[in-house]
Amino acid sequence: MVAPAQESPPRPLGLLAELTHRCPLGCPYCSNPLDLDARADELDTATWARVMREAAALGVLQVHLSGGEPGARRDLEHIVAAAREAGLYTNLITAGVGISTARLAALAAAGLDHVQVSIQDSEAASADCIAGYDGAFARKRALAGDVVRLKLPLTVNAVIHRANIERVGAMIDLALALGAGRVEIAHAQYYGWALKNRAALMPAREQVGRAIAVVEAMRETHRGAIVIDSVVPDYYARYPKPCVGGWGRRSLNVTPSGVVLPCHAAATIPGLDFWNVREYALADIWTSSPAFNAFRGTDWMVEPCASCARRSVDFGGCRCQALALTGDARAADPVCHLSPHHAGLAELARSDADAAYVYRRI
Ligand code: SF4
Ligand code: SF4
Repeated sequence: MVAPAQESPPRPLGLLAELTHRCPLGCPYCSNPLDLDARADELDTATWARVMREAAALGVLQVHLSGGEPGARRDLEHIVAAAREAGLYTNLITAGVGISTARLAALAAAGLDHVQVSIQDSEAASADCIAGYDGAFARKRALAGDVVRLKLPLTVNAVIHRANIERVGAMIDLALALGAGRVEIAHAQYYGWALKNRAALMPAREQVGRAIAVVEAMRETHRGAIVIDSVVPDYYARYPKPCVGGWGRRSLNVTPSGVVLPCHAAATIPGLDFWNVREYALADIWTSSPAFNAFRGTDWMVEPCASCARRSVDFGGCRCQALALTGDARAADPVCHLSPHHAGLAELARSDADAAYVYRRI
C-alpha cells in the first residue's frame, strides 16, 4: 500500500489543528473518529506552538483551530498567540458552547482573525435535539452576537441531513440575521460518527434536489450580502470531489495526540504508517512519511482511475470513502458513476426514518 512519491510534494496551504476531542455536544454526524483521543493524550501548549512555527515554515497560510470544541483547551489563547506570531491566519471553528464574551475578547486580543460557528438547525428545539445538548442553540446565537460586536468576521457552518434539510433556506436566513459574511452548507459526510448514523441522517434524493434549488435561488437573491458555499452531497453526485484537494497536496491535519493525517478520516485506512509531531518535524512528515506518500499523485491508482482523463482533477475521489464502501482504499470512490460499485450506492443511501441517533460521546 505504501508507494514512494514521484516528485517533491507541493506545499500545504492549510492546517487543521484538532486541539482536543472534548466537546459538550454530541452531533451524530461528527467527523471525529469513533475512537476519540483522551485529554491525557493531548499535545501540550509548547508542542502546539512548535507545530504552528513549523507549519508556517512549510508554507501553510491558514490554521483552522478545531476539535472537538477548541474552547475546552484552557491554553487556547496561547495557541492562538503562537499561531499569530508564526504569521498564520487563525480561524476558530467552534460549537459556540463554552466560550464566554470575556474569553472571546481575550482570543481576539491574542490575534484571532476569524470565527466559524456551527448551527444544527434554524429552530431551537430541533437544533438542541441534533446537538444532544439543551440550550446549545441559544448559546450559539449569543456567541455569534459577540463575534460581530468584536468586528471579527463570522462564518456560519450548517451540516445538512434528513432532520434539517427542509429548513436549509431558514438556516441561510439565520446566518444573515446573525451578521455572518459567509455560510457553509455542508451535507453530512459519511465517515466516523456519520457513517454509524447513516440510516438516520441520509436525506431522500428529492429532498436533496429541493435543497439545491433553494440554495441556488438564495445565492442570487443575497448576492453581495452573504457568500453561500455549498456542494452536492456525495451519494447523489455523478463525479467525486477531489477530497482535501488531493491526498497530501494542500492540507494536513494534526490530531489532539499529535498524529499527522492527510485528512480527518485517514486513520480509518489500515496499514498506513502515520507519524507523530512528538517524534518528527512537520516538514519531514509532509515530505517523507509513508502515509502522506501512499496516495500522492496518480501512480497508486487502479482502473478505472488509472487511465481516466479526470485522474489529476479529482484524484479518484476520497480514499476513506473508497475503503468504507468497497473494502479497497485504492479503488475509485464509488460516488463516481464509472466505479463498478456506483450502482450499489442508491441501496446504501436508503434511509431509515425510525433510526435513532447514536450521539458522539467520549
Ligand atoms: S460536530 Fe458536534 S460533536 Fe463534533 S466536534 Fe463539532 S460540535 Fe462537537
Ligand atoms: S474513474 Fe476515477 S479519476 Fe475518473 S472520474 Fe471516476 S473517480 Fe475520477
